[in-house]
Amino acid sequence: MTRRQGSLAGLRLLAVFAHPDDESLACGGTLAMCAAEGARVSLLCATRGEAGRRSPGCSEDVCLGAVRRAELHEAAASLGIDDVILLDHPDGSLNGVDQTLFRHEITLALRHLRPDVVVTFGADGLYWHPDHIVVHERVTEAVELLGAKAPALFYTVFTEGLMRTVVETAQTNPGAPDNLSLWTIDVDAFGAYAAEPTLVVDAHVYADRKLAALRCHRSQIDAQSPFTWLTAEQAERLLGCEYFVRSTIGSQTPTFVEAFAAGAVRVEAKRPAERASAAPPL
Ligand SMILES: [Zn+2]
Repeated sequence: MTRRQGSLAGLRLLAVFAHPDDESLACGGTLAMCAAEGARVSLLCATRGEAGRRSPGCSEDVCLGAVRRAELHEAAASLGIDDVILLDHPDGSLNGVDQTLFRHEITLALRHLRPDVVVTFGADGLYWHPDHIVVHERVTEAVELLGAKAPALFYTVFTEGLMRTVVETAQTNPGAPDNLSLWTIDVDAFGAYAAEPTLVVDAHVYADRKLAALRCHRSQIDAQSPFTWLTAEQAERLLGCEYFVRSTIGSQTPTFVEAFAAGAVRVEAKRPAERASAAPPL
């Protein structure tokens, strides 16, 4: 079975995030599952993440934005994402860019790709990251401006305490240092005061692919990262479910994403080699 012949053939999903790695962390399992079932999955990333961390093995001689661009494409391939649109807005200063231009760029992607479903950050920006909140606001506006032609809009959220559990679980694994952290972010900020999810997607079958995609972001994942140490079983248990809030903006008709949650769409893991050989041209 090729991807285009899957149960979601002909359907389209666009994910819009701020930095390389957001896609894998926020909803990598759902993206992988939709792609594996034949949907066309596209990703728009607003920045190259040049203000991110540089892991010890990452040379100072190369531009971090270029490194992260390559990592993003690798992660996208791992998840089965068909299209990557990488904008070049400044990492860490999205609220300082021309907001009309940024919204227009999102609108162009919506008009060109014509997704049935759009996924982006919730109002809490996963952990109150200012860039994430700007993306949430501009995507919401861009979808609303499409009026009757607007796709369904879903916001990704974390449940409170989940990332603390991820860190504490990884910490128990043999060899893991005792100072694991999620970059310099307060783990309790993930999901704090976030809206209650209205949709839970069980993508545990794709948790291994989500973890592999996270690990593609090598400049951001070092020995202090819990994602270096999580086992496949732990990833399946802790990262397998992904949480969404359906926006009141955009189409309100039922979507294929909700069908996943209802178990109406067959979920079948495929080996990466099998998928790679079946991938259609972009
Ligand atoms: Zn981010």
